[in-house]
Amino acid sequence: MTPTIAPIGEGPTVYLIHFDVPYAHARHYTGWTAGDLDGRLAEHAAGRGARLMAVIADAGIAWTLARTWQGTRTRERQLKRQGGASRRCPICRAQARAADHTRASSDTFGTGRR
Ligand SMILES: [Zn+2]
Repeated sequence: MTPTIAPIGEGPTVYLIHFDVPYAHARHYTGWTAGDLDGRLAEHAAGRGARLMAVIADAGIAWTLARTWQGTRTRERQLKRQGGASRRCPICRAQARAADHTRASSDTFGTGRR
């Protein structure tokens, strides 16, 4: 197992999609692309590329690209296995902070990033 190191701005990318409206218990989709993130997102917008994204498109749920990481499929699987996507999602974190001003101090966006 050799770690893959990609140049910043291109190469394998793991991405986190945040659904504007939760679908059943799902509020995020974590995906992976070898390099063409825009093309991949366009596929998802058309309901292609992933079963969950097809269902989301079908349900007419809007979504936002919340963040990306340089990383391979291994990283994607790792993130999916860890769960807790909302803790990695800047959109959810902003919403949580807005909802709870009293706890808005030490927990920064940098957490969990390596
Ligand atoms: Zn989110």
